[in-house]
Amino acid sequence: MDNLSLLVIDDEIDFTDFVSEIAREMNFTVLSTTNPLEFEKLYTPHINIIVLDLFMPDIDGIELLRSLYERKSNASILFMSGKDNNVLHAAQKLAVEQGLTVLGILQKPFRAKDLQNILSKYVPKTPDQNFELIVFPPAGELQQAIDRKDFFLVYQPQINILTRKIMGLEALIRWKHPTKGPVPASYFIPLAEETGLISDLTTHAINTAFKQMALWNENGLNLQMSINVSPKVLDDLDFPGKLVKLTKTLKLDITKITIEVTESSLMSDVARYMDILARLRMKGFRLAIDDFGTGYSTLQQLVRAPFSELKIDQSFVKRMDIDKECRSIVEISILLAHKLGMHVIAEGIENEDIYHILQELNCDEGQGFLIAKPMAANELKPWIEKYSFP
Ligand code: C2E
Ligand code: MG
Ligand code: MG
Repeated sequence: MDNLSLLVIDDEIDFTDFVSEIAREMNFTVLSTTNPLEFEKLYTPHINIIVLDLFMPDIDGIELLRSLYERKSNASILFMSGKDNNVLHAAQKLAVEQGLTVLGILQKPFRAKDLQNILSKYVPKTPDQNFELIVFPPAGELQQAIDRKDFFLVYQPQINILTRKIMGLEALIRWKHPTKGPVPASYFIPLAEETGLISDLTTHAINTAFKQMALWNENGLNLQMSINVSPKVLDDLDFPGKLVKLTKTLKLDITKITIEVTESSLMSDVARYMDILARLRMKGFRLAIDDFGTGYSTLQQLVRAPFSELKIDQSFVKRMDIDKECRSIVEISILLAHKLGMHVIAEGIENEDIYHILQELNCDEGQGFLIAKPMAANELKPWIEKYSFP
């Protein structure tokens, strides 16, 4: 790793020395200090990684964290602490919520190998990953984009974890922004939900995905299709009927379609929501609880609604190779889903280590950058032709 810099802050000199030595062996340019008050002097926006002890006299790690998110630091943070692991997790969560990138967490004492493992996973940020810096677009701009249908869908393959066979695709919407290029869904879906524009957006996405599915079917490609439906849209009692009508017109196999939903605070009427979910399932659609383990996707919802699949949130999956707690959460989610007779899909498979752990844990399906990034419809066929599985 050339030209990468690392700053380590820990009041114990043994640790700053230990981390510095390992990082230098890995060709990092290293800055270190045992005095947190020196942090301001040493910090520059060019630093790639900050290794931070949470518990220090004078200033604690959380205070330094605040100074990092206030200046919208681009550095990836690696937390260390000799204390309770829960505190490490709370700090990590706070950092992520404030838009910082967390590279990992290490409980002291740790072995050189643990540190090397985490540091070797560092990937310098590309402009796309820096999207966080873009502020949410004004609602007027989104309305205009909807009127002009300035959206397109990308499709991310989902594979069987055991056989690596391609099973299906998840359709994800992108905004063709005139100046910013393709904007990922997470940057405008919340705004669309708040402003009520989500209904039109979802209708557009469903129409496009279903038509594409029909086209692929005509060409002999019979993959499953997952679509995301906001809870806001599940307020319309006619929704299941409308969907069925569309699948009939396009001659689609309903049992190959999965509706992915999350529970949300935006849901005005829970009874109505459950009514619609139950009818979707009765009509033959598969139903997935998305982002399981986060926010509003709760255990209570699991028993209330007739889900056929559970999708484990990427925030746990993508860290499960370096973070024991995340791995435990993934493991328990798989057990739970299987106990309830549900199919499990892991999202956020970013490397082979994660893939192999999921295999050991008997996860059914998965998707993630290791397998493929979401791609445009016309990229799918060439990708499948190149994709190989044993
Ligand atoms: P989601 O349904 O959980 O979709 C998975 C998200 O994870 C996608 O982000 C995908 O690009 C990303 N992803 C996939 N593999 C990896 C990986 O290995 N690593 C990482 N770091 N990320 C990965 P995207 O496309 O930005 O979508 C964000 C969310 O927006 C989706 O989360 C979904 O809830 C929502 N969304 C997307 N399309 C639609 C849509 O058409 N309608 C509605 N209502 N919501 C949508
Ligand atoms: Mg989804
Ligand atoms: Mg998800």
